[in-house]
Amino acid sequence: MNRRNFTQMMLTIPTFLGMLGKAQSLQRGGKVIVIGAGMSGLAAARTLVAAGYTVQVLEGRDRIGGRTWTSEYWRDAPLDMGASWIEGTEKNPLSALADKFGAKRVATDEDNMILYGPNRQAFSESRVESLEARCEEILKRVRKLARKSDKDISIQDAIAATLDLKSLSTSDRQQLDFYLNNTLEQDYAGDTSELSAQSYDDQGEFEGDSVMFVDGYKTIVDRLAKGLDIRLRQVVKQISHTQNGVTITTSQGVFTADKVIVTLPLGVLKKNIVQFVPPLPEEKQRAISLLGMGVLNKLYLRFPKVFWDADYDWLGYIDEQKGRWSGWVNCFKLTQKPILLGFNSAVFAKETERWSDKDIVSSGMKVLRSMYGNSIPAPIDTQITRWASDPFTFGSYSFIAVGATHTTHEQLAKPVGNTLFFAGEATNAVHPASAHGAYLSGVRAAREIIG
Ligand SMILES: Cc1cc2nc3c(=O)[nH]c(=O)nc-3n(C[C@H](O)[C@H](O)[C@H](O)COP(=O)(O)OP(=O)(O)OC[C@H]3O[C@@H](n4cnc5c(N)ncnc54)[C@H](O)[C@@H]3O)c2cc1C
Repeated sequence: MNRRNFTQMMLTIPTFLGMLGKAQSLQRGGKVIVIGAGMSGLAAARTLVAAGYTVQVLEGRDRIGGRTWTSEYWRDAPLDMGASWIEGTEKNPLSALADKFGAKRVATDEDNMILYGPNRQAFSESRVESLEARCEEILKRVRKLARKSDKDISIQDAIAATLDLKSLSTSDRQQLDFYLNNTLEQDYAGDTSELSAQSYDDQGEFEGDSVMFVDGYKTIVDRLAKGLDIRLRQVVKQISHTQNGVTITTSQGVFTADKVIVTLPLGVLKKNIVQFVPPLPEEKQRAISLLGMGVLNKLYLRFPKVFWDADYDWLGYIDEQKGRWSGWVNCFKLTQKPILLGFNSAVFAKETERWSDKDIVSSGMKVLRSMYGNSIPAPIDTQITRWASDPFTFGSYSFIAVGATHTTHEQLAKPVGNTLFFAGEATNAVHPASAHGAYLSGVRAAREIIG
């Protein structure tokens, strides 16, 4: 995911500060349980430990990191299966951590892309610019229509209301689909039929480059986790909370504390597989159901040699089917190895999760052959993600679905009573769906407890 420069910046920090004011603090030395050892859980735990609290982190998986997960399956090329980029380096708290931990990074530029249409035809720069301008114009009309309308609708419906889709030629239709998938669905991980036309981009962003970690996100995750009391393979089943404390029941035992910070991903909350006693307030349940949980998946293909345009950061492809392998990252620049990373998102991503590895690879290879010809080599090895089927997340990250707004994220973030606190990317109204948003949410939840 490499978030584009959307203009509408929603600075909701004052609302968050208001929430901080309401928090009831716990004295130093008090005990806090943090559920989840992803970016938000680690940030919360570190903040609390630094302030003198006793913290236990309960993690269901047999590893830390959650949706920041560096695979070392290829020993000479560590690769991120979840988050890849620090999106916007300026004032981003993850940049400061990466500097502190000496993590090597490589910048990529989404505009440094070569775009292929059918029949191995690369688009000229001016053709790409004209495609972008036409599609931007359509999105402008969508925003205008959405702003005027009392009732929220999906981006897809808003496009249909502003454009006579039937009058488009096949090639224009495919180019529009490419743009919508590459620009919106790959970033927000929701389908245009699900994304709110009024609010899908109600969020802030940091300025600066987007950078990838040469040794993976693990470089900062491992350092954040150092010295913390993290219990792995503790699958939380029940969270019981009163004004006096919390009791957490896991697959392995029972834990008690003064307070708990829940960082369960939105996808897990949606499934109702963790029981809250008493049940969560209606407002929070509504927020859980209103926000969307999107899907973005990765396919890494390792080849015997580089056969693609190695000077570009991105390779784009306009397929006849929306979303089919529309964007590839040239990982040669990052790893110095002949590796490509293909993305799929939203509807196509959900569909491919049901396929065998073999079918996923051949579908990706079919597209690469359309771009580079039949003589390209077969991959020598592959790595594939299936985030929607992962029982510890059930999706990749949250998005603003029809009917939701950025305040829905705030409702998800609100503490319940004096003992139950919430963090995680979906609780961050300013920077949702990101690793830095998750980090900041963890710090915010810890500060609510510190007071
Ligand atoms: C494919 C992909 C690409 C992405 N790309 C980027 C990117 O380039 N840049 C970016 O900034 N962000 C990116 N993101 C988003 C980013 O990874 C997430 O927003 C962030 O990592 C979420 O952190 P979190 O702490 O909120 O949740 P998580 O990391 O999911 O942490 C929650 C933890 O809770 C644990 N858990 C779940 N259920 C239970 C249970 N019942 N009991 C105990 N523990 C449980 C999970 O195992 C997990 O460790 C990407 C995500 C994906 C999936």
